[in-house]
Amino acid sequence: MANEPLQEQLSLLYQLQERDQELLSVQQKLQEIPSSIEQLEADVVRYEDDMAAKSAELAETEKEQRSKDAELEMNAVHREKYRDEQRVVTSNEAYTALERQIEYLDEVDGEAEDTILILMEKSDQLKEELAALEVAVNREKQKTASETAKLKQELKDLEVEKDEKLKQRKAFLPKIDKRLRDEYHRWMKAQFANRSGAARAKTGFVALSKNGICTSCRITIQQQTLKEAQKYEKQVYCSSCKRLLYVEPATPAESRSTKLSVSTPNTVADRNNRNFQIEQICQERRITELCHFTRIENLQSILQEKLLGRSLLEGRGQQFFFNDSNRFDGHKEAICLSISFPNYQMFYSIRELEKGNQEIGDSQWIVLLLDAKVLWKLDCAFCQRNAAHSSVRSISLEDRRKPEALKGMFGDFYNIRHQDLSIPQDYPTHPQAEVLVFDPIPVQYIKAIHFWDADSQERWLPSNIGTDYETSCTDRRYFYPRQDYEVWSPDKFNSDGVPLS
Ligand SMILES: [Zn+2]
Repeated sequence: MANEPLQEQLSLLYQLQERDQELLSVQQKLQEIPSSIEQLEADVVRYEDDMAAKSAELAETEKEQRSKDAELEMNAVHREKYRDEQRVVTSNEAYTALERQIEYLDEVDGEAEDTILILMEKSDQLKEELAALEVAVNREKQKTASETAKLKQELKDLEVEKDEKLKQRKAFLPKIDKRLRDEYHRWMKAQFANRSGAARAKTGFVALSKNGICTSCRITIQQQTLKEAQKYEKQVYCSSCKRLLYVEPATPAESRSTKLSVSTPNTVADRNNRNFQIEQICQERRITELCHFTRIENLQSILQEKLLGRSLLEGRGQQFFFNDSNRFDGHKEAICLSISFPNYQMFYSIRELEKGNQEIGDSQWIVLLLDAKVLWKLDCAFCQRNAAHSSVRSISLEDRRKPEALKGMFGDFYNIRHQDLSIPQDYPTHPQAEVLVFDPIPVQYIKAIHFWDADSQERWLPSNIGTDYETSCTDRRYFYPRQDYEVWSPDKFNSDGVPLS
């Protein structure tokens, strides 16, 4: 289709580049997973080595103790012998000499007894340490096994995703003029030929011009260059980073003022740019999982179909056990998730409430872990704290959809700084920070189901799902508070949730 106007061609090339960037990120993950698995296994080996060293030390201590005991026994024999001799000697000198020998033995015995005491204490301590290490090794082994299984599953999924993307790419490629796509491929190849170029390749060959700024190098494009690029008569390159410029055409209906105020991602490119930025943030913070807690009774319908928002479920008249009987956030259509760790404050209070109301115990709840991809593949809004809080509701949904809002979840909350909390970097600052997801979430995003205990897991899985769900686990951690819970204790906040000090 060499006769397509350049503008259309540039748009297509830009889309190809976005597909390739996704492919690159899949590729990168595929490369990283085996070393993550190795790392996990190395951790176990390290623990085992520690244990072996400690066992050897214990054996050595016990051996030393045995030798001291033998020394005492030997001395006792000698002492007895000297006493026997004392009874038969005739001279005073001989008697005194034997007496000195016995005194010497007493002295040596005293020292040996002191040493034995020290050795006994040492072996007791070593035994204690060994027992603790054994617990740690077993925990580490379990963790490694479950994480390795997860990673292997992810590897499989990524292979499938990669194949699918390659297939789509192949079908897409002929839409682009051969000369243009050859230029693109040459450029990419050249970047990958050297180490530093690989990073450059990730930001792409085609640079989007937005508000007169090159999105690749962030430098303002010269007026003359911008004008030329907007004519789409020839290929125009950024004078600073030398990338091919693609200026997205403005739709004629858009007046200048609305263009400035509209912040929802309107065009495919905008949306892709937003999604890309969200994925980047997740990569930087190593966000890989999202959490959703729900009643165990809901699991079957979720796994049979998908995770749906409340209004959709109500519309269907489906029987479902809702978490929050008062959805003050005003978004019944949305599914509430939290990043990396459940909103334990809400989870706990709902569980307590249900225990009181209907005697629903902890084992009636599950925590689903979802793939963080939800954040950039589906329509989401990011809330720095509970979505029902007035300060969150006062921010428009458009603004809450932006990558900046996701970043804000990890920013300061009044005087509480993320880096001062003893939490991993992928945990949001506020424990009630929420993500609202407006799309149904397909089952393939569910990475794991955490049950309260093995008992509820075994009771529920075979009878309700018919088969063992391969990634079901019982990590009780997800049912407990976050490690920084003391900072967020309600008595440290006023009625509006503002920290008192
Ligand atoms: Zn540039």
